[in-house]
Amino acid sequence: MEKIVAKKKFGQNFLKDRTVLQKIVEAMPNNDHKVVEIGPGLGDLTKYLVDVKSVEAFEVDTDLCKLLQNKFEKEIATNQLRINCGDVLTAWKSELIEESYDLVANLPYYIATNIILKALADPKCKNILVMVQLEVAEKFCANEGDKVFGSLSIITQSVGEAHIVVHVPPTAFEPQPKIDSAVFLIQKKRDRCDEDFEDMLRVAFTQPRKTLMKNLSAVYEKNLLQEAFEKLSLTQTIRPHQVSTLDYHQLYKLTRSLDGTTRESGKR
Ligand code: SAM
Repeated sequence: MEKIVAKKKFGQNFLKDRTVLQKIVEAMPNNDHKVVEIGPGLGDLTKYLVDVKSVEAFEVDTDLCKLLQNKFEKEIATNQLRINCGDVLTAWKSELIEESYDLVANLPYYIATNIILKALADPKCKNILVMVQLEVAEKFCANEGDKVFGSLSIITQSVGEAHIVVHVPPTAFEPQPKIDSAVFLIQKKRDRCDEDFEDMLRVAFTQPRKTLMKNLSAVYEKNLLQEAFEKLSLTQTIRPHQVSTLDYHQLYKLTRSLDGTTRESGKR
């Protein structure tokens, strides 16, 4: 087989560091779920995964699909591994995987946030253990008060708990990326938030350095917000990243209940 050259357009940085590969496997939650792997690449992580789990993989690169089909002939024959060749964003349909699954992957960074949000919203996905750009991992795992605490952190905390498993330097990959990476784990405990709640978060963080009141008042009635802020003991000057996930949920409920006359969420 001809030599595989990494394709930049598919975000191909292959993880070669065995210690990191082992750390990913060790961090996998202990359960009977299937594993969904997005972007198996040359199959280095897949090799570990098929030893312990049944794996459903999605790979966009047809050259890599062929390589994987040869490399894992035995696992494919015994149904331990299924490879879906194509773009995961179109191929990954909820009906495709019937049972509960965990997402375990070294994700293509250009679509990583998109994929994680899709997995967070899918009730069949129970845990998410992924490698992404360090900055992105920090956003998903941030806590109230952290500078990068935002919609991604709040959506994550609304469905479960997240933490960084390991920081990964560029030297762990071939070819080496220019940025640092991290593996992080989200353990889901509840189903996804209401879509209107996520809309409210988008408004709350429109201008992250402005006050929460200023951002929200672009869409919600000012006096309704003032009443809700007072009820929750939130100051008028509080910034969006300083408010807890619980308070965002309370604020959402209050903006819906305090004004029953305007659209159910109290929007203008
Ligand atoms: N898992 C391998 C590893 O750890 O070495 C490769 C990871 S590499 C960062 C990302 C992988 O995702 C590549 O194999 C790439 O071809 C694949 N990929 C990129 N875009 C994709 C897409 N839209 N759908 C499915 N796979 C994709």
